[in-house]
Amino acid sequence: MGSKQILIVEDEKPIRDMIAFGLKRAGFEVLEAPDCATARACVADHFPDLMLVDWMLPDASGLELTRWMKKQSDAREMPVIMLTAKAEEEDKIRGLEGGADDYVTKPFSPRELLARINAVLRRTNGDDEGQLVAEGLILDPSSHRVRADDVDVSLGPTEFRLLSFFMAHRERVYSRSQLLDRVWGGNVYVEERTVDVHIRRLRKALEPKGYDRFIQTVRGAGYRFSTQTG
Ligand code: CA
Repeated sequence: MGSKQILIVEDEKPIRDMIAFGLKRAGFEVLEAPDCATARACVADHFPDLMLVDWMLPDASGLELTRWMKKQSDAREMPVIMLTAKAEEEDKIRGLEGGADDYVTKPFSPRELLARINAVLRRTNGDDEGQLVAEGLILDPSSHRVRADDVDVSLGPTEFRLLSFFMAHRERVYSRSQLLDRVWGGNVYVEERTVDVHIRRLRKALEPKGYDRFIQTVRGAGYRFSTQTG
């Protein structure tokens, strides 16, 4: 699976740059937004894995942004860490009640922030090195194996990455270009049709036990992994 994407919503550029630098060094992909409007567009376009939100932003508060996101059907499970200069207990409680998963008080060290990010990602995705399970379909990232009802499924490297990505990001629709960005990586040039080819191979490999039904086509939008019938 590609590296995790983190959206930094912070209007103070020096702080944003400092956070971005630390996260890139730690292997994350970084998206940046100086205000809530940019952040909303970014969430809709990229579905990042986690959002860091400053409390004080120019167009709306970070708390309002978090509340908005928790109401979006496709983004509400995205974890949020609030960044703030406010250390008061009451603000902390308001942040957590607004839907934030954790809270970091400024000034913080890059190392502290990184530890909190990793903890939240582990807690919310549960996919660090653990198995991904969808009914009888089990993907084990450490042994690179996939089993369907206890039978080994043989997958090519791209199909394996695609399935890992889908199983870690369920119930959300991804367009072909978003899948290229997240599964293939932003730097390679691949035609969008390539995605369909690999989806077809993945479905074929999952077909014997009927798990191809989890890879759903959403007309005019893209693909989704879901254990519910589309
Ligand atoms: Ca600010």
